[in-house]
Amino acid sequence: AIWNLGSINADFVYRVPHIPAPGETLSSTGRQMFLGGKGTNMSVAAARAAARVNHIGAVGQDGRWAIQRLLEYGVDTRNIAVLDTETAQAIIMVDPAGENAIVLHPGANAEIPQVTLQAAMAEAETGDWLIIQNETNLQRTAAEMGKELGLQIAYAAAPFDADRVQAVLPSLDFLILNAVEAAQLEEAIGTAPADLPVRDVIVTRGADGADWYSAAGKQHFPAIKVDAVDTTGAGDTFTGYVLAGLDRGLPMEQAIGQATKAGALMVMRHGTADVIPDLSEVQDFHP
Ligand code: ADP
Repeated sequence: AIWNLGSINADFVYRVPHIPAPGETLSSTGRQMFLGGKGTNMSVAAARAAARVNHIGAVGQDGRWAIQRLLEYGVDTRNIAVLDTETAQAIIMVDPAGENAIVLHPGANAEIPQVTLQAAMAEAETGDWLIIQNETNLQRTAAEMGKELGLQIAYAAAPFDADRVQAVLPSLDFLILNAVEAAQLEEAIGTAPADLPVRDVIVTRGADGADWYSAAGKQHFPAIKVDAVDTTGAGDTFTGYVLAGLDRGLPMEQAIGQATKAGALMVMRHGTADVIPDLSEVQDFHP
């Protein structure tokens, strides 16, 4: 099974004629709300990829709809705490050219109670996967606790934070970064992805595919040529699919193969968590 300590956001997308300047007041021409957060996207992706996924996280009283939505996507939500604080929000402004500006309010994502994590870990079994990212609290505690319990620890180092990476690096079995984050990591600690003390490292490179670094060396997986309309969520979907594949017992090459197809399907659609393809769509996708 997969245990994902991850963010849960309400994403508010406002269409604006242009990104407002300091002091400017602007009317939006439209608003939509979506389920979001990197953690949520990864849980939904892994569940759609047919893994057993337990989300560990927190929302406010205003976030019960998000729990319901995760349930509908097949995610186990028993370890999502409902707190007396507000659910995390992303306020996303998008101009007609597709340029955006985003304010992230961490809310409940930053206040996941330690007891919630402990309750989840009490049910985890040796060999299960624990996923962490940088949009919640308790990552380091979770990584150390998970390692102690014999779980495999996977980390998506996004949004990038050098101190957080270094804090969890010794606990990791699996690290996934995009090209920008890989460069930031190398800059911060002076170590290239190939030389990190982590069993499996994957660097995703958008339309240029992905590289897998392991004891066997580097292996490149080209992306599938598609017409991209919206790349948000491609990385989270890719991560969810790789880990679901590994958890289902696939060799890494096949897990990355499915993730590459899922990532390509994602960039062909608008939206994030709500449009992540399921395993049958991925298997039937023969570009
Ligand atoms: P992130 O969203 O974290 O920056 P990437 O952009 O590297 O992640 O995308 C993750 C994966 O999704 C890539 O390795 C690739 O397989 C797939 N992907 C991303 N963008 C494209 C694209 N334009 N065309 C085809 N596949 C893509």
